[in-house]
Amino acid sequence: MIERRKTKKIYVGDVPIGGNSPITIQSMTNTDTKDIDSTVLQIKKLEDAGCDIIRMAVNDFEDALALKEIKKSIKIPIISDIQFDYKLAIKAAENQSDAIRLNPGNIGDSWKIKEVTNACKFYGIPIRVGVNSGSIKKEFLHKFNGVNALSICLSAMEEIELLEKNNFYDIAVSLKASNVNLTIESYRKFADMSNYPLHLGVTEAGTPKNGIIKSSIGIGTLLSEGIGDTIRVSLTADPVEEVKTGKDILKALDLKEDGVDLISCPTCARTKLDLISIVNAAENRLYSMNKNLKVAIMGCPVNGPGEAKEADIGIAGGNGEGIIFRKGEIIKKVPEENLLEELLSEIEKLG
Ligand code: SF4
Repeated sequence: MIERRKTKKIYVGDVPIGGNSPITIQSMTNTDTKDIDSTVLQIKKLEDAGCDIIRMAVNDFEDALALKEIKKSIKIPIISDIQFDYKLAIKAAENQSDAIRLNPGNIGDSWKIKEVTNACKFYGIPIRVGVNSGSIKKEFLHKFNGVNALSICLSAMEEIELLEKNNFYDIAVSLKASNVNLTIESYRKFADMSNYPLHLGVTEAGTPKNGIIKSSIGIGTLLSEGIGDTIRVSLTADPVEEVKTGKDILKALDLKEDGVDLISCPTCARTKLDLISIVNAAENRLYSMNKNLKVAIMGCPVNGPGEAKEADIGIAGGNGEGIIFRKGEIIKKVPEENLLEELLSEIEKLG
């Protein structure tokens, strides 16, 4: 059981972040925000995959106005991603955005920051500040010997202070780097400095092949230490893959219980059926099933049920046939071609 770091609780819409709330999964749309139909369609796919909070770029007033329309058709809260224009942040808040992602240091004059914090206070929405290793101010780089965990954390603290000066404390923080070790070190250091809730991610992690590895190590290491309140896996891919990976990371650490946990053996010379195809088909069919079950798919009956005793249900392959077992007890023998369908129908029977 992971003991989680105690953090301040904030709300994005009705979704809590921090304060020992369940760890949430975020993603970001890659549609044009003002293209309402395409954006809603993408968010619905992300909702179905298990996304809890969606972020979208707000690049102009038309994007900000679209938020209100998009919200009519989706269930999860929206975070508006703003780069430099304080007026867009205010417009997004006015148009029902549930949170704002921006760095006050990018906005400029202090009166502009005040206007943004006033709008967020008025609408009761939080702000996420975030430092990326590539965007640390020159003065910090000189003062703290380049890009390192200290310069990243102190940059984030400076952004936080700009909000706190306006009595704004509804804050989440991210400290991302594309280097996994630097990401881990930065979040660890910041966790000792502040109790604001943390949004975890390894930025620019890359294609699914590399990005899943980097994100799993980076986010997974921190979560296993109790650090992190919400996560976003960044992949150069369909954002649905980000959400699926996020769910898998949480499930692997027992931080998310809903959904099937599929375990399967690596296959060996004892495997006498096409186990890889069966496992891949099962993974697709079981992914969206909302049952808290451990399902095992093993290559042989000798080691199969024994090795997967802790599974609620599973199959073990034989030669042209296989057995279905429940909690290690054999319940039936089935020809290979029917194994998957029989397994799925037995799973349906389970609560
Ligand atoms: Fe080999 Fe059987 Fe173990 Fe699979 S379960 S790796 S087939 S011994």
